[in-house]
Formats: sequence, C-alpha cells, structure tokens
Amino acid sequence: MSDVVEAQRLNVRIHPTAEVSPKALIGSGTREWHQVQIREGAVIGENCIIGKDVYIDFDVKVGKNVKIQNGAYLYHGLTVEDGVFIGPRVVFTNDVYPRAITPEGELKGNDDWEVGPIVVKYGASIGTGSIIIPNVTIGQFALVAAGAVVTRTVPDHGLVIGVPARLAGYVCKCGLKMVQKGEQYYCAKCDWYFTPEEASK
Ligand SMILES: [Zn+2]
Repeated sequence: MSDVVEAQRLNVRIHPTAEVSPKALIGSGTREWHQVQIREGAVIGENCIIGKDVYIDFDVKVGKNVKIQNGAYLYHGLTVEDGVFIGPRVVFTNDVYPRAITPEGELKGNDDWEVGPIVVKYGASIGTGSIIIPNVTIGQFALVAAGAVVTRTVPDHGLVIGVPARLAGYVCKCGLKMVQKGEQYYCAKCDWYFTPEEASK
C-alpha cells in the first residue's frame, strides 16, 4: 500500500496489479500497466510508459520518455538512456556464460557469475522479440529489427537485422532508412545527412 501512496505523491500511475519495490525510484508522469514488476534499486525516469507484464530487474536504469512494450524483460546490468523504444517481448540478457551449476556440480550463487552490461543509447529502438546478448552498446537512434539477436555493439543510427544481427544500413532520427551518398547517408524527408563513425575516422 505504501508503494501506491508514494506513487501518487510523484504523479505516477501504477496499476493495482503491478508490483513495484518501495526501493525503486519512479519519475513523475510515468505510467505502469497490469502485472508490471519493478525490483529494488531500479531507477525509472519521467514520463515513461511501461506495458503489461514488463519485468525490470534490480538496479536497472531507465531514462525519461522511454516506451517499454508488453512483456519485455530488462535484466540486471542494463542502462537505457532517454527516448528509447523497447518493443514487445524484447529480452536484455546479462550472463555471458550461463550455467546453473559450477564445474563441481554445485548450484551457483550470486557471486559465481559475472554481469555483462548492456547500454541502449538515446533515441534507439529495439524491435519486437529481439534478444540482446551481454557486453554490447546500442548506439543513438539505432534500430534493431524485429527478431534480431544482437551479439555485437551497434553504431549510432545503425540498422541491424537477423540472427546474429548484421549492419544493414543506417536510419534517420525520424526512423526512415537513409540512402547512401558516398561516405554519407541521407534522409530526404528530413533533408539531413549523417556520416557513420567508421567513415569519419
Ligand atoms: Zn529523417
């Protein structure tokens, strides 16, 4: 009950079926839908929308104006910057060498494994059902296509597709795929040029 009171104070709308730790910080204007679970130490920014069945693990950081669609799993080790879109059923993993047991056959504890961090940078979009493997950064305004499995870092504005995800071009801030012009990429809708990092070096 104290969660709900705290939430109202902050102008946060939490569905009665959601389970939000009193040790999680939720920014003003954020809305949480049915059966959301937010663990201790999680920090969620202002004006986010968190869809049904979303799981946000302990100490996960989420910026402001982030949309997290139904059924997405955000595990420990993840940092999400402002303005990111996370599609339905996206999974951010965190264990590079997943094993339930040690080589000796003992059940592993919290100290027996290493967290592989993931960072999703400003304005990026993660398509439905994609899976993000640990130790990667997804660049600003990058677009991960639906169903992709991201195993490597994605550059700013990068479009990645497939399993494992491969770079398939660049997208504009508006979301449209850009047309290559020499070493630059161009969006006719925005009349905007972008130079990928590799080309500018
Ligand atoms: Zn554009």
